[in-house]
Amino acid sequence: MSNTRDPQDGTSMNCAEFQESIPELFESGANVSKEAHLLGCENCAALVRDLEYIASQAKLLLPIHDPSPTVWDNIQSAIRTGIDDKSAAPSGKRP
Ligand SMILES: [Zn+2]
Repeated sequence: MSNTRDPQDGTSMNCAEFQESIPELFESGANVSKEAHLLGCENCAALVRDLEYIASQAKLLLPIHDPSPTVWDNIQSAIRTGIDDKSAAPSGKRP
C-alpha cells in the first residue's frame, strides 16, 4: 500500500509554509483568522492581525482594487523591517 503525503493538509503546515500562503488567502477572500494553523500558533495569529490592519490601511491608501503581489511584497517587507528594528531609524536614507 502506498502512503503518500497530502500537500493540501492545512493542519500540518509549518509557520513558513503558512506565511507564504497568507497573500493567497487574503486575495481569495478567505477568513484568514479562521485558518487552522492560527489555532495553535499565536505567532502567526499575531502576524495575521497585523496584516489585516495593514491591508485595511493599504486599501484606503491605494487607488486600486486588486492588490498586486508587489503590494504584498512591500507589506511583508515593511512588517519584517518594523519587527526587526522598530526603534532604529535607517541611516543614510535620502528623500
Ligand atoms: Zn505559525
